[in-house]
Amino acid sequence: MAVRDFRSELVGSFSEGSNGNPTVAMIEAAFRHHGLNWRYINCEVPPAGLADAVKGARAMGWRGFNLSIPHKVAVIAHLDKLGESAAIMGAVNCAVNREGVLIGENTDGKGFLKSLLEVVDPRGKSIVMFGAGGAARAIGVELALAGAKDITIVNRSAERAQPLVKLLNEKTKTPAELVVWPRPYRIPDGTDIVVNATSIGLGNGNQPLDIDVTSLKPQMVVADVIVDPPDTRFLRDAKSQGCTTIDGLGMLINQGVIGVKYWTGIDADPAAMRAELEAIFGG
Ligand code: NDP
Repeated sequence: MAVRDFRSELVGSFSEGSNGNPTVAMIEAAFRHHGLNWRYINCEVPPAGLADAVKGARAMGWRGFNLSIPHKVAVIAHLDKLGESAAIMGAVNCAVNREGVLIGENTDGKGFLKSLLEVVDPRGKSIVMFGAGGAARAIGVELALAGAKDITIVNRSAERAQPLVKLLNEKTKTPAELVVWPRPYRIPDGTDIVVNATSIGLGNGNQPLDIDVTSLKPQMVVADVIVDPPDTRFLRDAKSQGCTTIDGLGMLINQGVIGVKYWTGIDADPAAMRAELEAIFGG
């Protein structure tokens, strides 16, 4: 009788206090779909345990891992190299083991960019982005590296937004300016792409963004980062004005596609991953 080979390759994530991580379901769906004998394991790691967790992943030959808050900055001290955008952002959410060398990447913004590129190339485009937190930072840096013409950061607090505007102006070729959110905000004529990178709409599909909805024009592409629920009030308002819209699931799925490519070399089928997420969040 042949003995079955139960060895599998490992990847996973280090997070704190995360339960029912949808990324696990999405990545494992991709592994199943492509017949890969790989496992994605979500490990709860407190900040004091991060160094040991990374050492453990190295020792066990993990092919890589994702990092959630609060580990995205602290992990850098335990990695060997950083990709270009991760180095600019100073944050890593995906580590890749290349023959023993652990490389830190940031797939948050790359996932957003990949889903945007399915609709429009941001090169030479004027962007308005709401928010200045971690998601906004990742998206802003990738849009700048992709050649956006200019980026206007609209945020409630100036203190939070100033470092992001400074980072974009000093470390990329794309000029950025800060607008402290006037209520309601009017999207300037000539804007090509509008992004909600705040947490407005998270857990509440009726929560509006405080904007003059009539300032959204049909030629604008409007994107939201919110996945729960993906059908946000902001996107519905944009659709009502004739805009092309992109939901937050695309960003999350493409982070998975990029992660699977880094770790396995395979181009994962996004449809299998979207189906898994839509079963969780609705589509
Ligand atoms: P942060 O907490 O770092 O930032 C939150 C941002 O939202 C800040 O700019 C904050 O403004 C703004 N904000 C929150 N509430 C309000 C409000 N009532 N009015 C105005 N502004 C508000 O969060 P992250 O950047 O990490 O995440 C933002 C969202 O992106 C989350 O909902 C997260 O789920 C989603 N996300 C989605 C991903 C995907 O793959 N689709 C990936 C990563 C994140 P202020 O600075 O003034 O407080």
